[in-house]
Amino acid sequence: MMKYGRTYNFSAGPAMMPEAVLEEIAAEMMNYRGSGMCVMEMSHRSKVFEEILAAAKDDLKKLMGIPDNYKILFVQGGGTLQFAMVAMNLLKGGVGCYVETGAWSKKAIAEAKKFGEVKVVASSADKNFSYVPDCSDLDIPDNADYVYICENETINGLTYSKLPNTKGKILVSDQSSMFLSRPCNVADYGMIWAGVQKNVGPAGMAVVIIREDLIRDDLDAKVPTYLSYKIHADNDSLYNTPNCWAIYCCGKVFNYLLKNGGLEAMEQRNQEKAKVLYDYLDQSKLFTAPVEKTDRSLMNVPFVSPSKEQDAAVVAASKAAGFDNLKGHKSVGGLRASIYNAMPKEGVEALVDFLKKYEQENA
Ligand SMILES: *Cc1c(COP(=O)(O)O)cnc(C)c1O
Repeated sequence: MMKYGRTYNFSAGPAMMPEAVLEEIAAEMMNYRGSGMCVMEMSHRSKVFEEILAAAKDDLKKLMGIPDNYKILFVQGGGTLQFAMVAMNLLKGGVGCYVETGAWSKKAIAEAKKFGEVKVVASSADKNFSYVPDCSDLDIPDNADYVYICENETINGLTYSKLPNTKGKILVSDQSSMFLSRPCNVADYGMIWAGVQKNVGPAGMAVVIIREDLIRDDLDAKVPTYLSYKIHADNDSLYNTPNCWAIYCCGKVFNYLLKNGGLEAMEQRNQEKAKVLYDYLDQSKLFTAPVEKTDRSLMNVPFVSPSKEQDAAVVAASKAAGFDNLKGHKSVGGLRASIYNAMPKEGVEALVDFLKKYEQENA
């Protein structure tokens, strides 16, 4: 059990936030730095909020080393709206090429098909999305507008160890469930986006990092105003009333990460944490981790027992032991431990102790 009686929450999202960040937010709740109000009550046009927004962008830029020719946008609608926005903004009459690796890339593909031609250039559907397909020599048509990946499949527990060879086309990546979990060379991408409730802050918003030359002003006139990246870029994410609260909370997390060793330190911690769990699962006689070793996510760890009944029994026992949200996604079943940046190593160790004990008692 953690401070304040908080539990180790293994939810895939919304997920744990760093305790120190929640404490800072609590301390500023009633009167943000002498402004006389809570950030939730503040005008998005006020100087004090403009400073919050500018600091959040500056800190994210430093944290990821984002080059000057990229824009950082905060867009409402969470992760899901980006499936449509990517296609509406980046398809220019050519083909959107997608790598199909699981539930979230499938959703992106289905949504993009509403707006233009889509080609699935690689898929791991043949083996139940338990691996990342070889993307070193994809069949990418000349008229491809982009190549799209879901860089960490939250439900299936896969991540790329190497980015696809896009043959000169721009790479678009959904990093929702791995955002800020390891260093990232932003210049390798045309656009990165992330729904923030997995590894950063409150739900309902996405961060978009987009190369300036990809922001178009010749979109179909029927594209809703809010869904144009240009509108957000030209108005510094303040075209309409943004999710000020989420921007503030995300900014706190960016700053916290900067002060705690940045993304190198996060990667190190995340590798150590994931190793504790995978090492146990790999020698367990009760549980199996189905994903190919080279493609395993450091953030979302799915595993199964021999039967659905036993899976349910383990989930129930884990809940009674004070662990939350270990049930696998309804589409794949089994169990899943999401161990994002804010999950302490002690939480993973406690989970492994619990699973070991369960295994001994139920062998
Ligand atoms: C959660 C998630 C989404 C969808 O995010 P919402 O904010 O729930 O719409 C998209 N992609 C990935 C990889 C996710 O994990």
